[in-house]
Amino acid sequence: MPLRSTLLALLVPALLVSTLLVLFGQPTGALAAGLVTLAGSALALGTSRVAMERQLRALTQKTQSLAEGVMFPPGVERTDDLAQLEDAIDTLDDRLSTQNAALNQEARTLTAVLDGMAEGLWVTDAEGTVVRHNDALAEMLRPAQGAIVGQRPLALIRNEALNDAVARACQEGASTRLELTLEGLFSRTLAVRVTPVGRDLPGSAAVFHDVTELRRLEKVRKDFVANVSHELRTPITAIRGYAETLQGGALNDAQVAPRMVEIIHRQSERLSELVEDLLELSRLEAREMTFQRTEVPLALAVSRAAEGVRPKAEGKNQHLGLHIPPGLVALGDGRAIEQVLLNLLDNAVKYTPAGGRVDVDGAYEGGRCVVRVRDTGVGIEPKHLSRIFERFYRVDKGRSRDMGGTGLGLSIVKHLMGAMDGEVKVESQPNAGSTFVIFLPSAAGPTVATG
Ligand code: ADP
Repeated sequence: MPLRSTLLALLVPALLVSTLLVLFGQPTGALAAGLVTLAGSALALGTSRVAMERQLRALTQKTQSLAEGVMFPPGVERTDDLAQLEDAIDTLDDRLSTQNAALNQEARTLTAVLDGMAEGLWVTDAEGTVVRHNDALAEMLRPAQGAIVGQRPLALIRNEALNDAVARACQEGASTRLELTLEGLFSRTLAVRVTPVGRDLPGSAAVFHDVTELRRLEKVRKDFVANVSHELRTPITAIRGYAETLQGGALNDAQVAPRMVEIIHRQSERLSELVEDLLELSRLEAREMTFQRTEVPLALAVSRAAEGVRPKAEGKNQHLGLHIPPGLVALGDGRAIEQVLLNLLDNAVKYTPAGGRVDVDGAYEGGRCVVRVRDTGVGIEPKHLSRIFERFYRVDKGRSRDMGGTGLGLSIVKHLMGAMDGEVKVESQPNAGSTFVIFLPSAAGPTVATG
């Protein structure tokens, strides 16, 4: 309480009492009565001030407890004014607690959304230092130093373009799209978009999208189109060339004309084989073909497929031996199994020199039907073995084309086997022949005859 107010509160009652006594003709007692009143006022004022101070102290303690978030025991009784002030503080505390809970919930939701994203994300401050990131980014970068927060872009990804993009976003508010490669055991391609965080907030955000698989598929598609064009162009060029030569007068040359017509015929056959294989492969890859799951006696399937290559084998004076036990029955699609065997036998005859051998064995092994197509041909170097089932992959392009190969036969075999829950494997050594092995689900139990 200010000094002037305190003095007024003390002096006014004493002066009033003294003045009244003088007015009522009691001047002698006026001074004593004034002094007594003064003492009484001083006592009353002191008592109420002590009470007020005690309440204020209690209220201060309570406010501190609320600020620190601890419980406060029930307090001292309040005057009306202080009780109102306490209520106002309580209301303020309730409102702050509600807002705090809402903010916490929002922050947790945001973190969950960011961590659920497949794309990596980091946010930087105005200087370009990372202040926040999500789980996907940590998974993508796996930085050697561990922490991502607190790092500059260059320390995390050695890429000047990304670093410049972050600087431009922070300083000029510019957005940039770029693509970069993360080198490592498995190199990855990332498409990145760097943007300023927002008009009022400083800093930048970058979103990293892993496009490795997308780019790989694009390359596969481009390579495939290039390969198909190349494969088609070769026979078409030959056909057109010989046809033009015949038109130019060779038709009347009885010696060369039949040979040229024969080449045109062979090349057109090659063209149609290629188109057939391509159509078959595209149907397989689009999963447009339906496969039956019936009992297929393998001895029959092998002998039918062998009929398809017998003329060629005999033409090369090769021995074709079929050794499939009669009880060996697979579960699968009869047409697809014959196609697989035909492709393997065709290759075996193709890549085995004149006078060689091609043998087909069958057995029941490990609960599955196994057929081995063995040849005594040119064999395959180990470095090519993992790739020969790819479309258009050939160990020796010239030799394959000379033999009339399309480069698609084994790729079709692999797809067909996969569609029948089967498998195909190869064992080979250069100049020591090759063995292609197919595994198929068996129709019978382990009691089946083996051979
Ligand atoms: P192609 O039509 O060229 O024979 P494939 O897909 O059937 O195509 O075979 C791919 C490549 O695998 C062939 O070009 C050849 O180099 C190799 N290959 C396949 N079978 C044999 C085999 N029995 N002996 C040696 N090489 C083979």
